[in-house]
Amino acid sequence: MEKKLAVYICKGCGIGKALDIEKLEKKVPAKVKIKHTHDIMCGPEGVDLIKKDIQAEGVNVAVVAACSRRVLQDVFTFGPSVVVERVNLREGVVWSHKPQGEGVDELIQEMAEDYLLMGIAEAEKIEIPEPYKETINKKIMVLGGGVTGLSAALEAAKTGYEVTVIEKGAKVGGFAAKIRKQTPTSFPYEALQSPVIERVVKEAQSHPKISIRTQTEVARIFGAPGLFDVTFKPSGTKSKWDVPVPVEVPEGEAPPQPPGADQATPDNPAAILAKNPEAERFGAVVMATGWRPWRLEDAATPQEGEAAPSFDHLGLGTIPDVVTNVAFEEMAAGGKITRPSNGKPAASVAFIQCPTPGSDEDFPYASSVTSMVALKQAKYVRDDNPESGKAYVIYQHMRTPGQNEYFYKSIQQDDGIFLTKGDVVGVSKNGDGLIVEAKDTLLGDNIKLKVDMVVLGTGMVPITKDDPVLNLAYRQGRGFRDLELFDGYADSNYICFPYETRRTGIYAAGTARRAMGIGECMEDAAGAALKAIQCIESANRGVSVHPRSGDTSYPDFFFSRCTQCKRCTEECPFGALDDDEKGTPLPNPTRCRRCGTCMGACPERIIGFKNYNIDSIGSMVKAFSVPEEAEKARILVLACENDAYPALDIAAMNGLSYSTLVRIIPVRCLGSVNVVWIKDALSRGVDGILTIGCKYGDDYQCHFVKGSELFAIRTDKIGEALKSLALEKERVQQVQVAIDEYDKVPGIIDAFVDEVVALGPNPFKGW
Ligand SMILES: Cc1cc2nc3c(=O)[nH]c(=O)nc-3n(C[C@H](O)[C@H](O)[C@H](O)COP(=O)(O)OP(=O)(O)OC[C@H]3O[C@@H](n4cnc5c(N)ncnc54)[C@H](O)[C@@H]3O)c2cc1C
Ligand code: SF4
Ligand code: SF4
Repeated sequence: MEKKLAVYICKGCGIGKALDIEKLEKKVPAKVKIKHTHDIMCGPEGVDLIKKDIQAEGVNVAVVAACSRRVLQDVFTFGPSVVVERVNLREGVVWSHKPQGEGVDELIQEMAEDYLLMGIAEAEKIEIPEPYKETINKKIMVLGGGVTGLSAALEAAKTGYEVTVIEKGAKVGGFAAKIRKQTPTSFPYEALQSPVIERVVKEAQSHPKISIRTQTEVARIFGAPGLFDVTFKPSGTKSKWDVPVPVEVPEGEAPPQPPGADQATPDNPAAILAKNPEAERFGAVVMATGWRPWRLEDAATPQEGEAAPSFDHLGLGTIPDVVTNVAFEEMAAGGKITRPSNGKPAASVAFIQCPTPGSDEDFPYASSVTSMVALKQAKYVRDDNPESGKAYVIYQHMRTPGQNEYFYKSIQQDDGIFLTKGDVVGVSKNGDGLIVEAKDTLLGDNIKLKVDMVVLGTGMVPITKDDPVLNLAYRQGRGFRDLELFDGYADSNYICFPYETRRTGIYAAGTARRAMGIGECMEDAAGAALKAIQCIESANRGVSVHPRSGDTSYPDFFFSRCTQCKRCTEECPFGALDDDEKGTPLPNPTRCRRCGTCMGACPERIIGFKNYNIDSIGSMVKAFSVPEEAEKARILVLACENDAYPALDIAAMNGLSYSTLVRIIPVRCLGSVNVVWIKDALSRGVDGILTIGCKYGDDYQCHFVKGSELFAIRTDKIGEALKSLALEKERVQQVQVAIDEYDKVPGIIDAFVDEVVALGPNPFKGW
């Protein structure tokens, strides 16, 4: 496209007062023939000015030097053929920097001039991306026919989408169909109710847009959102795709190949992509595969750095009358509550919530559901034995969130139910009964309880922890990566993006996502169904899903220069790239979230987006001034647009200031930062480079899961390279911030500037 670029400088919101606008305008390169200033560029007159130039002068690149790109996006959008580049003079310059003395501050003016030149440089290098269009399928596959799966199917079907529910069991309903009674869901939240699952099952079975296949499992999922081709197998059988290999693909290794799967071999990964002709096509998947009970065998794997917890003192597995809450529920649903050892009625039962003496940890995977279940099951004991029944609930935490508190209070009123905080030190046999010993109880004393049975408040483990469920024909393996980091859950970000997994188009709901009760599962199902619909419709329009919703760009590869190093296929956080037998990447645009991690990883620099590429950011890096005087430092800040850049805007809105020596460039994710930008900046004489990204590690908040973590590995390598050039490695640093730490970011930047200034000027300055 032939570009006609124009510059529009706003004087409103304090910009005109703080800056010498005439001087700023003069900085616009002579080749740019159209430039205007206006008192309020976002007002009708200012916007008309731009629109007139577009119509009368054929302007197709508008550089708007005004407020942050994060605001007024609707005002400064001029249709699909006009590139708009926003230069952040307001939040990025005048609101975040206080003049030293009277009149225009020279350093602040320089900042504004640099940002203007950087914006023009970027605008020259970007184009409007064309959406990637495919003929997509809009049917939704729901995996799992429990209360979550059926509710998700109903929610999607009610909005007009066709749904197929795949249930591996003989019947739908999941565990919700196996309980005796359900905890209360309506005021006064006291009486147990009939399980809602009966109604949900009937509704789903009779809905014309829902088809249900029981005793069926996924054999293999090929493809991408809008284009998922799925093959099935009867439950419990093996298909040619099943292989006894770990779900994870260790970094740098070829994915495990199913033997006999279209002759796939480690040298022929493309064969894993060869789909079966019997495949059925779907647009998106809701993964509602639920949970399984925690088992004693699970305890054999302690968390890293922790000693294996012992459950021996509780008698689980050795004393028959010590059972889990699941076994107790199934017994209660079957009729009478009796002791497994001798079939006699169990009229006094102790419910133990916290297994380890001296620790206040609940059973692994326990949650508020476990607390609610203990209260409910205590009520079963009382309902079955109104006269003599006794239930003891011994806990460290009683978690009854929201309205469930009313249920807890009603249980407290029952004279036959004793609730106490306490440390259970042992369970032993006593004739045909049991003795439970507890200390540090609320009564202040050590107690010994004579009971008929003990029920342990064990937790709910997500099925994904040990079952690949999806069996994806993806280069990165058939399940989810890094499951150990997330306790087996498939989420991609607990805090910000519920339902989303690390595989685009596959949304987790209900207890597959975290332990929750039936009511919450039904709400969750609606959320995941909406996400699936959003994904299908986004794929149909050729745009990205969350977090860059609506983005029409996708990565282009200049394949003739690809060295098949496989870094892009390995680093993509969403498994969007497969590769052919030679190792050349095979993009799947509808799987892509447009994070740019592949672009950051590629050593050949052959990956880029039309509106975000090595050259566009590289040109910005080369566009700002680098003072030659040793006493004037220049610092480049690469700030992630998800948390760091908004945090800087918020800091500015709150009148917080930081050094005028920095020049900030927003990036899609630190994962997208290619080291060539850092090298270029250092060779220009930039004294220090600070990269600000989302938090990573256990409590990660990276919007692209691994981007900031992957960049940390690159930063380490850059540090080595700096040392070999006799440059201090402290000149390139990475920090992690969350959006609510906006008040800390200015301080972080200033501390870095001070550290770099103390190191002295970059020796490459002036070369
Ligand atoms: C003892 C106990 C009592 C409880 N009582 C209550 C209560 O009173 N009130 C309340 O609100 N909550 C209660 N809960 C919680 C409740 O059971 C869960 O919220 C509910 O079962 C979750 O439903 P789900 O659909 O997410 O999972 P599930 O019920 O586990 O259903 C998942 C379904 O997916 C199927 N599936 C699994 N893997 C695959 C696969 N690979 N392919 C196809 N299908 C697959 C399973 O067969 C199952 O049918 C209780 C929990 C426990 C442990
Ligand atoms: S790394 Fe990001 S931009 Fe690249 S293919 Fe994967 S999801 Fe898309
Ligand atoms: S990172 Fe670049 S060079 Fe390596 S395989 Fe991917 S596209 Fe090719």
